[in-house]
Formats: sequence, structure tokens, C-alpha cells
Amino acid sequence: MAVQNIFDTDLKYLKGVGPQRAIILADELGLKTFGDLIYYFPYRYIDRTRFYSINTINEDLGLIQLKGRITKTELVGEGRSQRFVAWFADDTGAIPLVWFKGIKWIKERFMINAEYVVFGKPTEFNHQLNIVHPEVEEMSKYQAKPEFALQPLYNTSEKMKNKMVTTKTIHQLQINLHEVIKNATILETLPRQLLEKLNMPNLKTSLQDIHLPKNQHDLQRAQLRLKFEELFYIQLKLLRLKGIRSRANGGHRFEVVGQCFNNFYNNHLPFSLTNAQKRVLREIRQDTNTGLQMNRLLQGDVGSGKTLVALMSMLLALDNGYQACIMAPTEILAQQHYKSFCDMLAPMGIDVGLLTGSTKQSTRTQLLADLASGQLKILVGTHALIEDRVVFSSLGLVVIDEQHRFGVAQRAKLWSKNQIPPHVLVMTATPIPRTLAMTLYGDLDVSVIDELPPGRKPIRTMHYNDSRRLTMFGFLREQLKLGRQVYIVYPLISEPEASDLKYLEDGVESITRAFPEYAISVVHGRMKPSEKEQSMSFFSKGISQIMIATTVIEVGVNVPNASVMVIENAERFGLSQLHQLRGRVGRGADQSYCILMTGDRLTTEGRKRIQTMVETNDGFEIAEADLKLRGPGDIEGTQQSGVAIDLKIADLGKDNQILMLARNEASLILESDPNLKQPEHVILDSEIKRRWKYEFDWGQIS
Ligand code: ADP
Ligand code: MG
Repeated sequence: MAVQNIFDTDLKYLKGVGPQRAIILADELGLKTFGDLIYYFPYRYIDRTRFYSINTINEDLGLIQLKGRITKTELVGEGRSQRFVAWFADDTGAIPLVWFKGIKWIKERFMINAEYVVFGKPTEFNHQLNIVHPEVEEMSKYQAKPEFALQPLYNTSEKMKNKMVTTKTIHQLQINLHEVIKNATILETLPRQLLEKLNMPNLKTSLQDIHLPKNQHDLQRAQLRLKFEELFYIQLKLLRLKGIRSRANGGHRFEVVGQCFNNFYNNHLPFSLTNAQKRVLREIRQDTNTGLQMNRLLQGDVGSGKTLVALMSMLLALDNGYQACIMAPTEILAQQHYKSFCDMLAPMGIDVGLLTGSTKQSTRTQLLADLASGQLKILVGTHALIEDRVVFSSLGLVVIDEQHRFGVAQRAKLWSKNQIPPHVLVMTATPIPRTLAMTLYGDLDVSVIDELPPGRKPIRTMHYNDSRRLTMFGFLREQLKLGRQVYIVYPLISEPEASDLKYLEDGVESITRAFPEYAISVVHGRMKPSEKEQSMSFFSKGISQIMIATTVIEVGVNVPNASVMVIENAERFGLSQLHQLRGRVGRGADQSYCILMTGDRLTTEGRKRIQTMVETNDGFEIAEADLKLRGPGDIEGTQQSGVAIDLKIADLGKDNQILMLARNEASLILESDPNLKQPEHVILDSEIKRRWKYEFDWGQIS
């Protein structure tokens, strides 16, 4: 077998695998080769040399190890609910160990007052901690075992556990695998000079130490190297892309600030810009006047006024003889942009077009003709803008609102519409943490609006249990009497099977009963677009006072008179989503409120999320907290982003410093060798190609 192919070897040839297990590992974890297995890293390590005292443990610790004696055993309960309980004590306290299964066997096993090591996960039951089905081992046996001090834990699925493939099995397979590759040559994947400079271990050592660490020190070095490598290649790819693009793509030069922009700024702007808006506009003006294509990400909290920045950038394009378009992720949002653009631009005599999936054929034909002739300068729309038949005469600027719903390929398609690619301004719906932005959009320049327009009263957020529902109703009544409007958001439309989640249909019924004197609008995802739109417009015109909805109203809806947002089963939503929903109120002059309704029992994580919402209104802070609590995979939008951030080991919530190091090293290398042609960098080029197998058209993709 050729040395470099050892990682390609089929897993079924590994001792301990065989055809049956090979199928399970492939189906459940996607592991097919030696290489797949060795890159299947532990999610945690248990320090088997460490013992906790009983009086210091709690539910949040996960698996822990205790040392002590069994003082008493008893059988509790009858029949199916019968369980075996062993009272386990150390110098600091006692805790029950509980078995529901295997009682017959276990009850003969223990000697009272002999010393044991107990390994398991404390959980709370009836306000008392216990450990269910722990591993229990005599002290003398524990000491004699040549166990690894740091025991790795691997994720496994329910199906695997049923087939007896557990974290221990995978641990054993890793041991077997290391026997095989011990004497093989493993090709290094980072330049030697870089490893020396950063004093990091080589790949082979790192892969060994990540699975079978001899001590904390070796483990940490291995983790650092593997995390660094993972983040480094992403940064190298993105920065290289950015470099190539800026060298290859010319851009339209917006040389003048002319009539459109100035007229709007001086005569039609209904308020003065915030300093942050001014700064971002300056950045955009500089970018668009370099002769290179702008690729800029605009981040700003809900309500920070990103749309206005977009509009004014589009006027800049017009001033220089170009067309501009803005693309929104939903029909509703596109319509809203269209309306506000028309309101602002009509006094200046500038036409705006709207193109969505439901634009009528006759309107569409005229619109497309006006675009192609260059008569229509500003177009608002949805995905429909990407279609091939949409042809501009001279597209100078593309604004993409609520970016994370558009993939890379879709972005690329828009600018292939022109010989010279248009400038691109990407706006996020909610702030994203720096580490995530750098990983998802590391090839873009970033602008931040970190200031809200003046005079906004911070929204007050309150948390109510279901038992305080009547209090909540009372509060709504007060607000409605003041002439305000309220939103009530449900996680589901219909009654769910086997769960006590609140659902919209039930809400409509009970709210109608409780507030007979008010009109109610309903909006959810199963309605036709036209029905949805009518319902929305009733609410925004004030014909209805209560809006009952699912999260379809999340993005962009703007009704300044609405002062209360009630979110049912708030514990079910992610932080960014809660923040986005909350941002629907607080848009007018009145004090606004967000009421988070939850069940009485919350998980630790759920409680933290609700608490974060109550404590802060700062979208950036909330995004950071979300990333830390849930990890990037779960954060709203990242799955659809089209950018794979399937990280095997690095954690964007925690590995901030490693990310900065990786970006810095990548950019130093590219500065000295932009095309990665130097002999010591050839390895970098081939690794990028190996990791991102699909062909890049470096010039086009952004
Ligand atoms: P988002 O950043 O969430 O897209 P919008 O652009 O929708 O925010 O702006 C929210 C509201 O704030 C809009 O009603 C807009 O007209 C208003 N607004 C924007 N900029 C300013 C400003 N400088 N002063 C006062 N109000 C502003
Ligand atoms: Mg917006």
C-alpha cells in the first residue's frame, strides 16, 4: 500500500470493524476510511485522575468521577417502577446511585463500606441529585487499570448505541488505528517553517495526541495545532479569493457625488443621519471610487437604519450613470422596501420598479424592457432578480438585504450579469459575531453601524411564566386602550402531536374570546401571499389592533404604532430570532415592551437565553451569547448561508484568538507570495484544492 494512501483505506479493514460495523459507521457518522475515523475527534475528555467531592457537584458538570463508600442499598417501589438504590458517601456528603435495569445482577454486586470509584452524570430528580446507571468499580481494580488518564468521549447516535457501538468502541478503534499508522509516514499538511515559527507539533503527533493524550499539555498542543490548521485554511482561501478578485476585477468608478444624492440629502431626508450612517456612506464612497469592485458587508442592529444607507448608495450609482438594485429574501420585505423607496424617491421624480415572483406578466414585460433600455434606474425585488431574463443596461450596484439567506452561488450569478461586475453591498438582518463574520464573509470588507437613530426608547423586556397569562392579558388591554397595537407570535400553526407547545390556531381562539372589542389579523406560512399581504396591510393601516402570527413576520415588518411583542414558548426560539422579533416594536415614539412567555420549567440553556434577552438590547452582545450557547451550526441563517462552516474541531464561540492568529498568518503568507508559488507554499495551494474540491472560478465568485 502506498504510504500516502493509508488514510484512504476502507474502514472495514481495520481491526475491530468488520463489514457490519463498517455499515453502521458509514451510515450514522459518515465514516468510511481510516482518514475519516482519525479526523473524527472527541467532543470532550474526562480526566479520570480527577475526583469531585459530593458537596461540589451539580447537574451542569456532565460526566464526573467520585470516590467513596456504599453505606446502604435498598430496593424501592414495586413492579415496573421498581429500582435499586445504593447510597454512596464521601467525606463531604452522600448521593443515591439508581438502577432501573439489571437490578437482579447489580444488587448482589456491592460490598458495604468497601471503597469504590463511581463514574456518571448527576441529574436532579425531585429536588435531589442522583446518578442513574453509573459505572462503579472497586478502588483496587481502578488503580490497577492502565486506563488513559484523559478519556476521550465521542458522539454516537441512538442507533449506534442500540447496536452496541459506543464512545468506548470508537475509542478502541482509534487505539487500533494508531497501531496501524504508528510506523507509517503521515504527510504534513502545514509548511514546516510555519510549524517551527509557531512552535506547533507535526500532524502525526497531533492526531495521536488528540485521540490518545498522555497528559493535558500534549492534548492542548494537539488541539491548538488542529484548530489552527482548520481556521488557517479557511482564512487562506478567503483572503486569497479577495486578493485575486481585487487584482482581476475592474470596477465601475463612481467619481461624482451628484444631483440625485445631494438633492435627497439636502431636501428630502426626513431626519439627519447618525454618525455611524455617515461613516459607512463615506466608506462606500471611497470603495466605489477606486476602480476596483466593492465587496462590502454592512452589519447593524435591527432598526439601525441600514436601508437608508442602501438607498443613498444607490443614488450614488445613479449620479454616475448606473442602475442599482436591491434584493430582499421575501416578497413581504421586497414590497416594504419598494413602498418606502417610492415614498422617498417619488418627490424627486425617480421611478422605482418592483420585481417578484408574483409580478404580473404584462407588468413584468414592460419592466424588463425598461431595465434593458436603461430607462428604469432602480429595481427592488426578490430572488426573481437573479433570473437570466432580467437584463440591465448598466448595473452599477447590487444591494443584498438580509444576506444570510442567499448563497455564494446566487451572489455570483447577479454580477455575472455585467461585463464589469457591479459593486456589491451585503446587509445582514441581525448582527453576527466577529468570528463568524470573519469565517462566513472573510473575503468581504466590513462596515458596522453601531449606533441607533436618536430618540429611541429602549424596549423593556419581561419574562412571564404561563401561570401569569392573565396578568399579560391585562397588560395588553392597557396598551390597546392607549391606542397601541400588539403582536403575538407562536412557534407553531396547528396543534402539535405529543407536545404542549402553544399554537397559533388556539391563540386566535382565546385572544378573540378575551378581546372581543378589537380586530385581529392573522399571518402564517400556510396562507397565500395575497392573503398574507392583506392581513399585514390591515395591521399596518391600524384597521386591526392585534396581529397573531408565526415567525413569518420576523423579517423587516415596520409598524411604528405597535408597542408590544408577545412571544409564546419563547424558550423555543434562538436568541438571534428573539432579538429579531423584538425589533418589530420600538419603532415609534412610545415606550415598547417585549413579553417572553415560557413554561414553568426551563433548561439551564433556555433560562440563560431568556435572561440574556431581559438584560440586553444590544444585538452584537446577543449574537455573541447565541454563538457561545448554541454553536455556529445552530445560529439562524448559517445553514443556508451557502458557506460551509462545518468545523471539526475549532469553536467560533471560544477560539477567537486562534482565529486571529490564523488570519494573521494567512495574510502574511499571501503578502509575500500572493499566488502561493514559492516551494514551501506549494503544499498550501494543494491543500486548498484538496479541501475545496470543486473548481473555483476565482474571478467570478465572491
Ligand atoms: P434596519 O437596519 O433594521 O434595516 P431600517 O433601515 O428599516 O433598519 O430603519 C428603521 C427605521 O429607522 C426606519 O423607519 C427608518 O426610516 C428610520 N431611520 C433610519 N435612519 C434614521 C435616522 N438617521 N434618524 C431617524 N430615523 C432613522
Ligand atoms: Mg432592514
